[in-house]
Amino acid sequence: MTIQLYNTLTQRKEVFTPINPDEVTMYVCGPTVYNFVHIGNARPVVIFDILFRLLQRHYPSVKYARNITDVDDKINAAAKANGETIAELSERYVQAYNQDMAQLNTQPPTLAPRATDNIDAMIQQIQALIERGHAYESEGHVLFQVSTDQEYGKLSHRKLDEMIAGASERVEEASYKREPADFVLWKPSTDDLPGWDSPWGRGRPGWHIECSAMINKHLANTIDIHGGGQDLIFPHHENEIAQGTCCHESGTEQFVRYWMHNGYLNIDGEKMSKSLGNFFTVRELLELWPGEVIRYALLTAHYRKPLDWTKDLLSSAKSSLDRLYGALRDAPVEIEPNLTHPALTELESHLQDDLAIPQVLAVLHTLAGDINKANGKEKRALQAVLRSAGGYVGLLDQDSDAWFKWQSGKQESGLSDADIDALIAERAQAKKDKNYARADEIRVELKNQGITLEDSREGTRWTRD
Ligand SMILES: [Zn+2]
Repeated sequence: MTIQLYNTLTQRKEVFTPINPDEVTMYVCGPTVYNFVHIGNARPVVIFDILFRLLQRHYPSVKYARNITDVDDKINAAAKANGETIAELSERYVQAYNQDMAQLNTQPPTLAPRATDNIDAMIQQIQALIERGHAYESEGHVLFQVSTDQEYGKLSHRKLDEMIAGASERVEEASYKREPADFVLWKPSTDDLPGWDSPWGRGRPGWHIECSAMINKHLANTIDIHGGGQDLIFPHHENEIAQGTCCHESGTEQFVRYWMHNGYLNIDGEKMSKSLGNFFTVRELLELWPGEVIRYALLTAHYRKPLDWTKDLLSSAKSSLDRLYGALRDAPVEIEPNLTHPALTELESHLQDDLAIPQVLAVLHTLAGDINKANGKEKRALQAVLRSAGGYVGLLDQDSDAWFKWQSGKQESGLSDADIDALIAERAQAKKDKNYARADEIRVELKNQGITLEDSREGTRWTRD
């Protein structure tokens, strides 16, 4: 069994061969902590969580690092606007990020290095770049000189000479640059801004340097997988390669073997942006939907394709999960699944084929259909398989009754679980007493509050609409 991954660098699917099969290394660019994370930023977290789970099934150890960018001009501006310190603001949003991502059923990475804890590694890498003639100091800044790196542009498949000529719209001209494509490694800080002492005076790092410095410090000079959204390919990841390669003796040591990028998330067909007003935070969505619905919705398109985020997408993800959890109703939790069941083999082969997750979801639904047709022991065995299958993509880990009782933040003023259970008990008693009018009244009363009852031989269970 081999894992195949699409590599942005070579623009094709390749067999994944780790440098050291005893410890696979993966790095994914994490959040800049100055506000609640938006739904577009959750897509890579969920996708690479599934890759993390896949790798953990195949290799004894996987070291997955996801950084926290806690030094950034956006953080400085937000702290100033709020009248709080930069440390307070970033700590608050680190906690919020971790909570939100946990709600989406993502496993925490093995390590989450923070930029401000790794300034020494950045200064070292910048010094190495200067020593090797790839970077220069100018007006208190240190810049990477792009023309010194013949390989520059290889990830984004852009031509170096065009970029140096300033053909790209993304490069900014500045008096301290030798060439417009040169990018900032270090910049001076005024007294009111965060800064660290360095050979070039008090200052702070440019954004790109933190990832290559932390990769080298916490993982290795060459790592197996680096992931992120497609929007990071240029300039961020291109610059990471330049820094992470040129800082070493030979300058030829490969920085990352497999580059993986997820597609954009569009809101109702448009690119999400604050200016268009179609900007949703994960936190806002979690008020309205279970985290698992958001996760499922994020998995409905192939990870390299754009994902169109609509309200319908969330309702249809909710219905899909209702169907899957419906098949798990009354499933005993303690049954050992048959891990050689053909559905699990099929599912694993889809994941190994460059994370074909929509096909995995189809397998889950086929299993649910089989469960609905089965009875007794066979049904219980299939339910155990479906639970395991869900785990491969971080779904279906809740008790099914709890799933159907989920309450949104908006509904919290409504009936509590205990209120509902009490009314159901009263209804059962009324039926026993042959007071059918009262029993019916309770059913209607609950229906009006969005609670549907379902009677069976085992008793009455209920669902929040
Ligand atoms: Zn990065």
